[in-house]
Amino acid sequence: MRSIFFIFLIISSYLFGATKLVEQKWEKGKTFLNFLQDHKIPKKLYYDLDAGNKELTTEITSGTRYQILQNDKGEIEQVLIPVGEELQIHIGKQNGKYFMNLLPIVYETKHKVLETEIKSSPYKDIVRLTNNHLLANEFIQSYKNSINFKKDIRKGDKLVIVYTQKVRLGRQLGNPIIEASMIETRGVKHYIYRYKGRYYNKKGKELEGFFLSQPCRYTRISDGFTYKRWHPILHIYRAHLGIDFAAPIGTPVHAAGDGKIIFAGRRGGYGNCIIIKHVGGYKTLYGHLKKFARGIRRGRYVKKGKTIGYVGSTGLSTGPHLHFGLYKNNHAINPANTINVVKNSLRGRKRREFLSYVRKYNKEIQVAINDKVTPKKEEAFAFYMNVKRAKDISNN
Ligand SMILES: [Zn+2]
Repeated sequence: MRSIFFIFLIISSYLFGATKLVEQKWEKGKTFLNFLQDHKIPKKLYYDLDAGNKELTTEITSGTRYQILQNDKGEIEQVLIPVGEELQIHIGKQNGKYFMNLLPIVYETKHKVLETEIKSSPYKDIVRLTNNHLLANEFIQSYKNSINFKKDIRKGDKLVIVYTQKVRLGRQLGNPIIEASMIETRGVKHYIYRYKGRYYNKKGKELEGFFLSQPCRYTRISDGFTYKRWHPILHIYRAHLGIDFAAPIGTPVHAAGDGKIIFAGRRGGYGNCIIIKHVGGYKTLYGHLKKFARGIRRGRYVKKGKTIGYVGSTGLSTGPHLHFGLYKNNHAINPANTINVVKNSLRGRKRREFLSYVRKYNKEIQVAINDKVTPKKEEAFAFYMNVKRAKDISNN
């Protein structure tokens, strides 16, 4: 994967005489227009986008690492900025003119297993062994209702995590997904399994997840969530990192869960927008609002169901609707799986299916305990390199 990316850059470097590949981090509060302006790229590139893609540029998350290829005069030849987990904004040059399109992110999905004895704390040990803070976070969150991490854990207790992680250029992309995990405390083994996108204990009882209520009464869902969709007529890729609920102007919008308002104001393509922070690293976003409800402002705590604003069409919107986004650890995820979900226990045939499904994970966990496996740490990617060096790497 790595080589494909570099070959792509190297080919362009021959074509355009470029010499330098620079990696940067997207700064907090920076907009896509700021970015174009800072690099003297015509703003027309942004203004020519349709509403959907303009909205998408609002989704570039702070901290995102992106790559710039510059020529020997320091001019930009190419840019790649990931947005969501599957697409990246690509800016290139053709006949001396800049153009922009969306390209799929080239990534690998790696299946990994971690086994360790607890030395300091589950969180610290997971981070020390994998460099993956999100994995540590996810693990702690998943057991927080069944284990008291302060009281129950002894040094020498064991944990095993079977998970998948998307990897781009040697770095983790998006959230890890824990398929199965085990933590042993005071000689008792606790298990959690992911089954059909939901989480269960060993007996097939569903665990308390993060559940949201409907943010507004709507007439229809005008656009669903997708990290990447190929448009068969326009022959372009699209992404939509939320759900659009079409509803008449003025329809009340409710907080989908308890939390603290961390943003209430104008936000790029989302117009009047509210962001609420919830427990467990979750955030919800409400876009295109006509106006905010009285008293709604940054810093205020709201309860699930509280009216926070009214459906509108502000920002880049083709008609009145609520754009509803859900983020976990700052990565957009599909809200559809968390709205109005009822917790249940698997019984009868469903339970038997579950038990046979988790058998392979039990085996994998046992093998991990016997073999003491630790996954390879996420590799670091040099912050700056010239093309000559990149070429060397691509030949490896
Ligand atoms: Zn939308």
